[in-house]
Amino acid sequence: MIKHVCVVTVAMAAAMALPQAGAQAPRDSRTAAVVDELVNANRILFAQGVVDGFGHISARSPVDPSHFFMARSIAPADVKPVDIMEFDRDGKVVGTDARQPYAERFIHSEIYKARPLVMSVVHAHSASVIPFSITSVPLKPVYHMSGFLGKGAPVFDIRDGNATHADSDLLVKNERLGAQLADKLGPAAVVLMRGHGFTAVGASVPVAVFRSVYTEQNARIEIEALKLGTPTFLTEGEAKMTEETMERLSVRSWDMWKKQADQAR
Ligand code: MN
Repeated sequence: MIKHVCVVTVAMAAAMALPQAGAQAPRDSRTAAVVDELVNANRILFAQGVVDGFGHISARSPVDPSHFFMARSIAPADVKPVDIMEFDRDGKVVGTDARQPYAERFIHSEIYKARPLVMSVVHAHSASVIPFSITSVPLKPVYHMSGFLGKGAPVFDIRDGNATHADSDLLVKNERLGAQLADKLGPAAVVLMRGHGFTAVGASVPVAVFRSVYTEQNARIEIEALKLGTPTFLTEGEAKMTEETMERLSVRSWDMWKKQADQAR
């Protein structure tokens, strides 16, 4: 009996010591903090209805700014620290990590390349945003929470970069498409993707999350307003000033959303 228990224990220990597909070196404290923030961001974005089974969020590495961190290809609500992978500037997996990455990681790699001050990128398909990607109605800031939308979110059409306008699965799954998306984003905070979703950026993970949540809410409010009449949008000056004021306070939403996501577990 004792021998049997020993065998099981040794087998378990051996399994734990095996270099698994997701084996990672211990993380330094700055990286561990960003990884923790990313895990929370995944859960918050799910709890807030921005992502569902799909969508992803990344953070630029605090140690090597040409690298970024993002979960392996799983549903955002399930992401744990061990699921976070490291990618280089071209969206290639760093090291020997053999796990499946998101096909659309080039959205992230190309934006980090084009926008040195961007520290976090969110990509989602939330429903209220889609109408603005498939009509000529612009997504513009309708209230003080979404001043970051500025003059209105540009719309990326995946067919535009293709001379023959060939059909595709609409996914940004190579560097060329990622670079075209980053180009369409330009200096903006959010870019819509025709028939697909949106990508938001920020100077921190909480700000990228804040912008994603309020992109979806702005879209909902704008659609409601359009049913009633012609909306009055924020002026460019109001957009700039509300962006500065509200994003300074974005940590308040972050803390509340984190609590909500924790309670929902
Ligand atoms: Mn997508």
